[in-house]
This record gives sequence, C-alpha cells and structure tokens, in this order.
Amino acid sequence: MRKALYPGTFDPITNGHIDIIARTALMFDQVIVTLAVNSAKKTLFTEDERVALAAESLSDYPNVIVKRCSGLLVEFAAEEGAIAIVRGLRAVSDFDYEMQMALMNRKMREEVSTIFMMPNEKYIYLNSTIVRELIRYDADVSEFVPAPVLRALRGK
Ligand code: ADP
Repeated sequence: MRKALYPGTFDPITNGHIDIIARTALMFDQVIVTLAVNSAKKTLFTEDERVALAAESLSDYPNVIVKRCSGLLVEFAAEEGAIAIVRGLRAVSDFDYEMQMALMNRKMREEVSTIFMMPNEKYIYLNSTIVRELIRYDADVSEFVPAPVLRALRGK
C-alpha cells in the first residue's frame, strides 16, 4: 500500500488544498491529510473543528483520511508507513523554505521523499490566511472553500 502524507494547518482547508489532495489521491493508494498540531499557533478554528471540516470536505475521496500529528512529521510518516510527504508549491516564494524542509526531512529519514505539486492556476493566489482575512470583511469566499467550510465560516 503506497501512502502519502499531506501536512498542513488547514485553518481552514481550502479548494487549493483539495486540488492538491485530489491529484495525490490518483497517484497513491492512500493519502493521509495530516493536521500538524501546534499549540503555539493561534488559529481561527480549533483543532477538532479543523479535523472535522477537512474530513467532511473530503468525504467524496474514499482513499483520503485525516489524522493529526503533534510530533516530528518524518517520524509520523515512518510510523504510518508513508513513503512521501506532499507539499503544494504556489510561487517561487514558497520554494526556499520548502526546499530546506524537504532536505532536512530527508536527512532524518532517507526513505521518506518530499513531492511538490502545483495546483490549478486558479488557486495560485489562495491560502488560508487570505480566506480568513476576506471573511473578516464579509467578502464572498464561496469559490475558494468547500461547502462545509463556507457554512462554518458563516457561523463564526
Ligand atoms: P496555507 O499555506 O494555506 O496556510 P497550510 O499551512 O495548511 O496552508 O499548507 C499546507 C500545504 O498546502 C502547503 O504545502 C501549502 O503550500 C499548500 N497549499 C496551501 N494553499 C494552496 C493552494 N492554494 N494551492 C496549492 N497548495 C496550497
């Protein structure tokens, strides 16, 4: 069984994330959407809300599951038997940090490779921070987030 991890904060999960997950789900037997638990980071949605929103938004993908990880990601990958960590690359500005992380992770666990994917160009400018900003000003974010997230954002 070929497994890939897709780690992130998912505060909240957006259509950009789902675009990458859908592409990954075609290439691996299982995709583990991994909610990186970081108590120092202030988030709009609680950990439980973020897990639930991701799971609900991905219910159409039978080979995608959502888990949380509070430790080192590469160690979690090894525990889960995942051979890849998938990251989305939107712009050159993502590259420096992502390359550093990928190389450090490979140094720790040679058997876990990092794979970069580009989303559909309509999601290139999208990230969770922008969604949270837009919602503060009551802007329409319906084309950027899945239905469960849209409902949850309206409730906030
Ligand atoms: P964000 O960057 O939106 O705050 P996360 O920390 O949850 O998101 O990111 C998880 C992964 O998803 C990262 O690899 C990030 O580059 C990627 N990602 C986030 N938004 C998009 C998008 N619109 N298109 C492609 N990849 C994305």
